[in-house]
Amino acid sequence: MSDGYDFDLFVIGGGSGGVRAARLAALSGAKVGLAEEYRMGGTCVIRGCVPKKFMVYASDYAKKFKEAEGYGWSVGDISYDHGKFVAAMSAEVDRLSGIYTRNLHNAGVELFEERAEFVDRHTLKLANSGKTITAEKILIAVGGRPWKPDEDELPGVEYTISSNEVFHLTELPKHMIIAGGGYIAVEFAHVFAGLGVETCLVYRGESVLRGFDDDVRTQVHEGLKEAGVRVITQTVFDKIEDTGDNERPYRVSLTNGVTLDADVIMMAVGRRANTDGLGCDAAGVELDDKGAVPVDEYSKTNVDNIWAVGDVTDRVALTPVAIREGHAFADTEFYDNPRTFDHDDIATAVFSQPEVGTVGVSETEARRKYGRVDIYKTRFRPMKNMLSGSTERVMMKLVVKADDERIVGIHIVGPDAAEMIQALGIAVKIGATKPDFDRTCAVHPSIAEELVTMREKFIPDGLQAAE
Ligand code: NDP
Repeated sequence: MSDGYDFDLFVIGGGSGGVRAARLAALSGAKVGLAEEYRMGGTCVIRGCVPKKFMVYASDYAKKFKEAEGYGWSVGDISYDHGKFVAAMSAEVDRLSGIYTRNLHNAGVELFEERAEFVDRHTLKLANSGKTITAEKILIAVGGRPWKPDEDELPGVEYTISSNEVFHLTELPKHMIIAGGGYIAVEFAHVFAGLGVETCLVYRGESVLRGFDDDVRTQVHEGLKEAGVRVITQTVFDKIEDTGDNERPYRVSLTNGVTLDADVIMMAVGRRANTDGLGCDAAGVELDDKGAVPVDEYSKTNVDNIWAVGDVTDRVALTPVAIREGHAFADTEFYDNPRTFDHDDIATAVFSQPEVGTVGVSETEARRKYGRVDIYKTRFRPMKNMLSGSTERVMMKLVVKADDERIVGIHIVGPDAAEMIQALGIAVKIGATKPDFDRTCAVHPSIAEELVTMREKFIPDGLQAAE
């Protein structure tokens, strides 16, 4: 162990990135401690990806019952018990959190179930026990938290919930309003609409999922409306008041003059790094203007013995990214194998219904970056919907760099898009070209076969003359 320190490595935060780093470092023989103030597993396991995906599954059944009729099934009276579902979901979250704890124990990591705060660059104070511990290296892996405007900016904001509380609703709302147009707002609008809740989404822009390819945005935006979500754009919440009514206790006034009444209002307007009160200034760790911890490619902060991984760094806020960053840190510092994680071409999914799978750059970004690009895209009703009666369409798009025909972006909206994009991510990562796709034989009949059978270049109206 390092001379004079209690630990070789101390990790603050028991989420995906922190746990991976702590476990690997401990398995190398280092003395490792980890503090977690809430529950082991972090955002992903406790109040993010995992319970959210269960909610998506729960919600999707409603559609499936309806579609089954087109295949000859007679579906009788159906009912849904949200309390029963939430209990089952919570039990699974408990199980997973337990596995995280056990794995850390088994690797020899000493766990502290309390909050840790910096005293100086090598010293941390544990909030409950008041104990002070020292470490040669410290890893900040405290993640992020939902952001909400304060009461001055949005009177009545205290009546709203965030993605932290949405998993604890034991009764289904009747009338729900969601603010935002990012991953979280879109996913939960579909979840609740699918479960039969009268759902309204209020977004300040024109079309949801800013930053995604425009065809994805259009398809998802229209898909929300088709799923029964009332989508109100180019406005934001002005104030929220208590109506005193039992069924719709809250009234949201929008800046465009519209008022909406609901029993649950959810803010999904972004997340911020969880650095409040962490004492970064005492350790000399610089923060950016949003409270995130800037790091170099090895995840090192401006302080030589302190690193940060995951959402707290505000690089790419995704679980698998935090895990890779934590892994690269452990390899570099404890296995004498200096490694960085490549943040390019990360495949990702938005669990709208149907879902989005995307990897690489959007068409707009590709044109800006590479100049000439070829676009292949298709929109079609998948075979299954011919009998189910669903009008849902699939959208698939390949963005190809014109000079060397390398595929630099793939964007899909449709069933199993997340599953497809995981495999397609490999193709983009290894630099597959459009001719590579063309010589790949189709799997028939499948939705994915369209990815290797698109032959016609799509030429946008404005570009026809130039082409
Ligand atoms: P995002 O940053 O994706 O979206 C925030 C949304 O809120 C945007 O639509 C933004 O509008 C809007 N917004 C921001 N500030 C305001 C404001 N003051 N008033 C009104 N609207 C506002 O955040 P999310 O919370 O949805 O998700 C955070 C991150 O978590 C994601 O970026 C993603 O990395 C991760 N995540 C990943 C998931 C997955 O992998 N499936 C699922 C959920 C989260 P505008 O577009 O105009 O900026």
